[in-house]
Amino acid sequence: MKTAVETVPSYVLDAWWMPDAGAPATDARDASTGEVLARVSAEGLDLAAVVEHARTVGQEELGRLTMHGRALKLRELAGYLNGRREELYAVSAQTGATRGDSMVDIDGGIGVLFTFSSKGRRELPNSNVVVEGPVEPLSKDGSFIGEHIYTRIPGADVQVNAFNFPVWGMLEKFAPAFLAGVPTIVKPATPGMHLAAAAVRAMVDSGILPPGSLQLVAGSARDLLDQLDYRDMVSFTGSAATAALLRAHPNVSGGGVRFTAETDSLNAAILGPDAMPGTPEFEAFIRSVVTEMTVKAGQKCTAIRRAIVPDGLRGAVIDAVGARINERVVVGDPRTEGVTMGALASLEQLADVRAAVEAMLAAGGELAHGTLAAPGVPDAAGPGSGVGRGAFMSPVLLDWPDAEAAAVHTLEAFGPVCGVLGFSTHDGGASEAVRLAALGAGSLVATVCSNDPDFVREVVTGIAARHGRVLVLNREDARTSTGHGSPVPHLVHGGPGRAGGGEELGGIRSVKHHMQRTAIQGSPNMLTAVTGVWHEGADRRIAGEAEFGGVAGEVHPFRKSLAELRIGDAFASGLRPVSLEDITAFAESTGDTFYAHTDPVAAAKNPFFPGIVAHGYLLVSWAAGLFVEPAPGPVLANYGLEKLRFLTPVAAGDSIRVTLTAKEISPRVTDDYGEVRWDTVINNQNGDVVASYDVLTLVEKEDTLYKSRGRRATVPRPP
Ligand code: NAP
Repeated sequence: MKTAVETVPSYVLDAWWMPDAGAPATDARDASTGEVLARVSAEGLDLAAVVEHARTVGQEELGRLTMHGRALKLRELAGYLNGRREELYAVSAQTGATRGDSMVDIDGGIGVLFTFSSKGRRELPNSNVVVEGPVEPLSKDGSFIGEHIYTRIPGADVQVNAFNFPVWGMLEKFAPAFLAGVPTIVKPATPGMHLAAAAVRAMVDSGILPPGSLQLVAGSARDLLDQLDYRDMVSFTGSAATAALLRAHPNVSGGGVRFTAETDSLNAAILGPDAMPGTPEFEAFIRSVVTEMTVKAGQKCTAIRRAIVPDGLRGAVIDAVGARINERVVVGDPRTEGVTMGALASLEQLADVRAAVEAMLAAGGELAHGTLAAPGVPDAAGPGSGVGRGAFMSPVLLDWPDAEAAAVHTLEAFGPVCGVLGFSTHDGGASEAVRLAALGAGSLVATVCSNDPDFVREVVTGIAARHGRVLVLNREDARTSTGHGSPVPHLVHGGPGRAGGGEELGGIRSVKHHMQRTAIQGSPNMLTAVTGVWHEGADRRIAGEAEFGGVAGEVHPFRKSLAELRIGDAFASGLRPVSLEDITAFAESTGDTFYAHTDPVAAAKNPFFPGIVAHGYLLVSWAAGLFVEPAPGPVLANYGLEKLRFLTPVAAGDSIRVTLTAKEISPRVTDDYGEVRWDTVINNQNGDVVASYDVLTLVEKEDTLYKSRGRRATVPRPP
């Protein structure tokens, strides 16, 4: 007996929601068999309440955590989803995806969570205010300064996603939004909705997500944008036509809703004239073209649509691509043994791709490999199994005798289709290749295969402004490269012009897309209060030498654990004289006998020095001796210096002193210690700044680790 087809539920207001039984719905079908798997509908869903829930409950709950707290949750979530991959692969196979395709989608999405977790903890503060750039002095006496800060936007990030990567497409946007502290409302595309919903179910089951931080609208929800205002943002992925439609929505065009789009893109792969058949670069080019035509049956926004090759190599490229397809590609139901390329997402998608290819054939493209006829498909389930209703298509390679034909530079066939176009090499070829690539009017990615540095430089600098990412493949990285079609979370994914102008990935930059940059002006004390970072000129509690601000009774900050330490806690040393013997001894013991430290005549001729001067590293070492608190205590280690500048030379007879101020305190969420950044200034006897830098230390949260264990069992890891 056939069981009733279930409707894919939405997850809203922290609960699962279903439309009324009789509500109009769209069928979600198995891409290979045509079997109806589920129904998709969000008819009757109160979208205003969904958005309000994100703005209130989601914002509040995410705001209870710091950036590091949220980063850790991303790691936990990634670990949890790793354990549920098999069940997601099974659902993914229903969308036509092979095991390899599913791994790109599911493992790739989980990988994005891991990457943002570790980048967030390494590159963002353990707070909710991100300071950007240097402090700008705005008054002569230092009482009025300015800088930029980022804080999260106050609304929701509404994802409108394409059908091709239901999991990765969601997680690549979710991770940076979550890290920023912005709740997500995800509206996946109708095909693949059941896979996106299965992934959301796993995320909800994990119990890791704070209330309101993720909601799923499992239906078309055409009026979702009606609910949004200037507090919210839309992260769109899909066709250029839909992007244009949504951009024109009054809440976007006039209401201040932030809108980013990742749209279609006619990505190029360019073969250098040096990359003759038989070279590793030629091989890498052929491999890339075939991979991009067949992974996910070519339904990838990053897929290579235009293979731009030296005119004389067109035939060789077509033959090699055709041979590799014949050798490796078996089209069919991805659940069948031996199949290497699955179905397109739906019969509608298949019809669209075929129509695009027919339009290209009519516009001058010539069929060089493959056919538009339905491919022979291994029918594991036997005759009558329904495989005939699958959205199968052979890989199609088109040859373009006229490389300027408009259709190859404007029509996207979102399937296993690529065109080959030739460029003249009479002037080296680079400028011609650049000109053809530019006809795509802005793309997500291009690959250049060449081992000629001049060709590579000319092409990359020529096309970079029209691309979000450029991959250069030669014999050195062809085997280790992550490939043309795989965006990595550390680097930009997005592109100008036709590609939509967005940037959904790009390391911490993509977190900041969910935040507002604000210029803050005020006194050092007020900017310290706002940012949690000590600013020069703000109040301090100084221990140490009374002559230089030390106050009797103040405890040396190195004796304070993180529980006691406050930003602005400082130490001022007394003066230490510098003698020629000290400089000579340092030169001899280190071997740094640079003439400015050893030869008075030569040193006097140096435009920067008055004569023999002390080594900068001698001064930095002495400064450590001046500020250190030698007995065991809460400071566990010094793990580096940053921003070191030597500003005033120190000669024999001068003296130096050091002032150290706790500038930024970052307790680690998972460890018994955290990082403290110390603003450090070395002055001479006249008060001139000799050197300035940040000292980085690891400090215990409570002053107990050392005392309680004597010797620590675990060695703290520097960041
Ligand atoms: P699409 O038809 O533009 O649909 C994209 C999303 O927009 C779907 O969730 C769709 O929902 C929704 N949508 C469509 N019309 C809408 C409307 N009037 N109001 C509100 N939402 C609307 O694109 P697709 O067919 O899913 O994806 C294929 C395209 O996406 C290709 O052109 C491909 O190049 C592009 N793509 C780009 C990237 C990238 O990163 N640049 C990535 C993947 C795909 P329904 O499904 O409910 O209609």
